[in-house]
Amino acid sequence: MKNWLPTSTAGSLPKPAWLAEPETLWSPWKLEGQELLDGKQDALRLSLHEQQLAGIDIVSDGEQTRQHFVTTFIEHLSGVDFEQRKTVKIRDRYDASVPSVVGPVAREKPVFVDDARFLRKQTEKPIKWALPGPMTMVDTLYDNHYKSRETLAWEFAKALNQEARELAAAGVDIIQFDEPAFNVFFDEVNDWGIAALEKAIEGLECETAVHICYGYGIKANTDWKKTLGSQWRQYEEIFPKLQASNIDIVSLECQNSHVPMELIELIRGKKVMVGAIDVATHTVETPEEVAETLRKALQFVDADKLYPCTNCGMTPLPRAVARGKLSALSAGADLVRNELAL
Ligand SMILES: [Zn+2]
Repeated sequence: MKNWLPTSTAGSLPKPAWLAEPETLWSPWKLEGQELLDGKQDALRLSLHEQQLAGIDIVSDGEQTRQHFVTTFIEHLSGVDFEQRKTVKIRDRYDASVPSVVGPVAREKPVFVDDARFLRKQTEKPIKWALPGPMTMVDTLYDNHYKSRETLAWEFAKALNQEARELAAAGVDIIQFDEPAFNVFFDEVNDWGIAALEKAIEGLECETAVHICYGYGIKANTDWKKTLGSQWRQYEEIFPKLQASNIDIVSLECQNSHVPMELIELIRGKKVMVGAIDVATHTVETPEEVAETLRKALQFVDADKLYPCTNCGMTPLPRAVARGKLSALSAGADLVRNELAL
C-alpha cells in the first residue's frame, strides 16, 4: 500500500535564515553573486533532505531558488519593466506594487531548468515543479501594452509552455501551475483561463497539475476568508470546466477550510491533491486530523487518485512548524493507507 496516497506539498517551504529573511513574502536575499547561487543550491538540498526525512513521496525544490512564486518567473521575461511599478489590487484583495508590461512578452532563456536538473540529480523520487499559471501572472502585473488580460494570458501561456517542455525534458515528473486567481475571477476562468492553462500544458510528456487555493496564511487572505461565509463554494464555479480539461491533477485546499468536500465530486476522474495541512496556522496537525480529512475526501475521490498534500505553500511558516507539518502529513497518510490495506 506504500504506493497509495503519495504525499507531496503545494510547493514552497521556508528558507534558511542565512539565505533570506524568514517568515516573509518577497523576502530579500541575504547573499550576493556566486555566494547567492551556491546558497540557493545548498538550501534546495536541505529542503529536499527535510522532505525525504519526513517521508514525503513526491518531492520538490521547496521553491528555494525563487523569491516569489509569480514574480521570479516574470523577472526572466522580456517585455516587463521592473522599474515602472504600479500599485494594483491583487486578486481583488490587496494592494501591491507590481512591474509593468511595456512590450511583447517573451521567454528568451530558461528560468528554472538548471535548478530542476540539479534537483533531479539529488533524488530518485518523483519530482513536482511549480510554475505560476497564466491568469495569476496577469493578475500580478500592470499591463500597459496588450490592454487585454486574455491576450496577455495567452502570451504568458506560450512562454510557460516553452519552460514546461524543458522542465519535463530535465526529468520533472509533474508540472504544477499555481492559479489562486481561479478562485476569484470565475467568469474569466471559464471564458479563457482554462483555455490558457491548456495552452501552457500543450504537448507535455509529463503529468500536469493545477493548484487552486485560498492563499498563503497572510493577513489579507485570512481577512478575505472571513467574508466568504460558512460554506466556501468557489470551486463549484470552475470545477465542471476543469473536469473537462486536459489537466491530470487538481490541487486544492481542504484542511480547516470551509470547502464542502462534496464539491470534489465535480472533478471525478481527475487525480486530486487534497490539502490536509493548514498553512494559515502554526498549530501542527495531529496525524489523526490529517487522516480524518483524507477519509472525508475518499468519499469523493477514488483511493488510487488521492494525493495527500498541503493546503498551500509553507514559505511564511517557521521552519520547525513546516517540518512538523510535513511529518504529520506523512503519518496521517500512513494511517489511512493501513486502513485501505485491511
Ligand atoms: Zn496556494
